Amino acid sequence: MDEWLFRFRWVVPDRGDPIPDGGVLLCRDQIVAVEPFRRLAGKCGVLDFGDAVALPPLVNAHTHWEFSDLGTPIVVDRQPTDWLHAVIRHRRNTHCPRHELLARGIRETLAAGTSAVGEIATCELSHYAAAAAAAHMPHTIAAKLQCLVFRELIGLRDDSVKAAIRTAQRHVSGGEHGNGGRSTDPTSAGSAETTTRSVRAEATTVKSPGIDFMLALSPHAPYSVRDDLLAACVDLARRAGVPLAMHFAEFSAERELLARGTGPLREFLERLGVCDATSFATPRTHLELLEQLADAPRVLLIHGNHLTEVELQFIRGREQFSLVYCPRTHAHFGHPTHPWPRAAALGVNVALGTDSRASNPDLSLLNELRFLLGSSRLPLTALLPLASRNGCRALGLPCTGGLCPGAAPQATILAVRQGPKTERLDRWLLQSRSERCWAVNDPIDWIAAHETAQKWRTTNRSKTPE
Ligand SMILES: [Zn+2]
Repeated sequence: MDEWLFRFRWVVPDRGDPIPDGGVLLCRDQIVAVEPFRRLAGKCGVLDFGDAVALPPLVNAHTHWEFSDLGTPIVVDRQPTDWLHAVIRHRRNTHCPRHELLARGIRETLAAGTSAVGEIATCELSHYAAAAAAAHMPHTIAAKLQCLVFRELIGLRDDSVKAAIRTAQRHVSGGEHGNGGRSTDPTSAGSAETTTRSVRAEATTVKSPGIDFMLALSPHAPYSVRDDLLAACVDLARRAGVPLAMHFAEFSAERELLARGTGPLREFLERLGVCDATSFATPRTHLELLEQLADAPRVLLIHGNHLTEVELQFIRGREQFSLVYCPRTHAHFGHPTHPWPRAAALGVNVALGTDSRASNPDLSLLNELRFLLGSSRLPLTALLPLASRNGCRALGLPCTGGLCPGAAPQATILAVRQGPKTERLDRWLLQSRSERCWAVNDPIDWIAAHETAQKWRTTNRSKTPE
């Protein structure tokens, strides 16, 4: 049998309004039709998802799985640097093995119906392969998660800058995976061509069961990366063709630090003992950093809470830049109103991220959408591209899943036990409780998700109502 017809309470097509009582017809590895169910009924056997919605595949453009053991976000006491200290303390004191922390993040990401994710890594890639194996979820279908592993790089002194450059080179060459990679020492590197060749040849996707890991770099933030380290990251990204992610204009104190080398972030770095007289010797502006970053093939500006009009005008029309907005994390810190609507109006690609459990209660893009539905007064159809198509573009992934005829059968399916009685999808989503999500990539995934949804509803029917 080559054709399958799936029925949902709603289908959200690539363009246009949600279709109530919608049908999606698949033929082999392609979506053939997305229409009201009554127009498709009778074509072939029907798999009815019932109280469920088919959405475009969700993309979480920014997270840190290493904090997945946190039950609740770390409270911001007085100022952001207190929160940064608390995060570092938590990382040092956790007893959970690294691969298990990552595995928890993977499980949560899959359970949230995420199809692709931008993960910030503070450890070697080999931990990710171990985590993928440890994350095995017997009740999860065999969906493929696309994970960009952005290796975090921090350096404000000669020694830490050199070490970070070595780490970056090893990461993009695949050397941190444990085999096959070639480490390149920047202090003894040969010609630029030799380095380029070795990097190009080995920069790769590392495949694990259920997850494809793709290599990328993250010079951490303007306050933790010296200008020569940033230059080396941009150069390496350009030569290896990998994306860069940088926490950017996250805190207002960054500007004082870059301009004069003073302020609360300087005190924070001094207390950690990670900076010296060279760290902020040359005054820099965020605009100059953007000019530097513009040479990279793809740049994710994470947060951008304090981006100015001039900076937004700079990234406008420069296709390599994306802005990643983390709505609930932004609210957690009580930052001023986020400039994402202005960025979007200027044509900047705006994607969504959850950030980590250190500033967010969970890693669900659907919950970010719910938060925005409640706070922005924009309809779901206006917000969904941020959580899907724009995320693909930010991460440099082909955006094939758009729930339209001719597209690959990629989607996020959300099923609820018993949805609220409403004719509006936005309200249904806001009021829905007790749900299950799946990222689906091919007909087998859709069939498996349908079967799992049926079993889950049957099991839950016998339990106490929630
Ligand atoms: Zn972050």
